Amino acid sequence: MGRIYNFSPGPAMLPVDVLTEAADEMLDYRGSGMSVMEMSHRSKVYEGIIQEAEKDLRELMNIPDNYKVLFVQGGASQQFAAVPMNLMKNKVADYIVTGQFAKKAYEEALIYGKINVVASSKDKTFSYIPDCSDLPISEDADYVYICENNTIYGTKFKTLPNTKGKDLVADVSSCILSEPVDVSKYGLLFAGVQKNVGPAGVVIVIVREDLVREDTLPGTPTMLKYKTQADNASLYNTPPAYGIYICGKVFKWIKNMGGLEVMKEKNETKAKLLYDFLDQSKLFKGTAEKKDRSLMNVTFVTGNDELDAKFVKEAKAVGLENLKGHRTVGGMRASIYNAMPYEGVKSLVDFMKKFEAENL
Ligand SMILES: *Cc1c(COP(=O)(O)O)cnc(C)c1O
Repeated sequence: MGRIYNFSPGPAMLPVDVLTEAADEMLDYRGSGMSVMEMSHRSKVYEGIIQEAEKDLRELMNIPDNYKVLFVQGGASQQFAAVPMNLMKNKVADYIVTGQFAKKAYEEALIYGKINVVASSKDKTFSYIPDCSDLPISEDADYVYICENNTIYGTKFKTLPNTKGKDLVADVSSCILSEPVDVSKYGLLFAGVQKNVGPAGVVIVIVREDLVREDTLPGTPTMLKYKTQADNASLYNTPPAYGIYICGKVFKWIKNMGGLEVMKEKNETKAKLLYDFLDQSKLFKGTAEKKDRSLMNVTFVTGNDELDAKFVKEAKAVGLENLKGHRTVGGMRASIYNAMPYEGVKSLVDFMKKFEAENL
């Protein structure tokens, strides 16, 4: 088959098993006589699909009973507004800015309240995670916000910030399901699924019950209230039905593989292969500080823009695609999410060795 190794940051690779199963069920989902795309979201069959997806996600992430799981739309970016609209009481929040998505979230939150940047890594082009063990957390902060894995810069929080008792809100779009997490440490987590779970169009929100409130900021649209979505089990209106169905299949795929512990081992093995190569390479250099390196997005450069462009072009010619870094930082980025097989990373490293020998 003509599949390539797709290192795109998102939408990204999906497991072949999941795509094959979805293809098999495309015309007739399990005797229903129709595709899931054609199905009423109020039907018994679809109810089964969405409920099972939630159940599997709860099992995988060990989500405590006092947390709601919501499947919503609008992309992760919509949550940049939904979070302050739903969580602000004092209209004060503290943000840790470690990259573009954290910055966007911060800028959006400015519309709704007094927002303090309590830490940032802007001084070194977001190449590291600042020490967050003793930050000047505001007395009256409604929450502390992080972007846990910085998709563009290839960094990740290895320890969560000390929020001094305030609720932690995390954008986990590019690291959800990559390793086990302790959900109880967060007030709210959200993720656009197109990085590490499923097709674009679905956002997973996991939120502690007491943060699902009636008294949201004035003007909060009905659709953006977590309460609307929670009270209606994500079926207030038509949900992104097909996307949720694919997410459900990915949850099963991870469960069958052994869950998040196994996923983590696999991801560490893949990332190590690439980082170990980078650390001894005479041509390529990793751009993220070692202690903060992401398992999911690996950023690197040659130090020469023309050579970077040549690398991206020649890699594409051998079936290693979408290695160009984000337009704002240049260089290269290999996104190696759950669905990227070890062989894909091995092929990339082999190609990098060859390219190095030819271009040094
Ligand atoms: C991609 C990404 C976003 C933006 O997601 P959309 O669904 O396109 O809005 C936000 N945060 C992180 C960490 C991302 O990787």
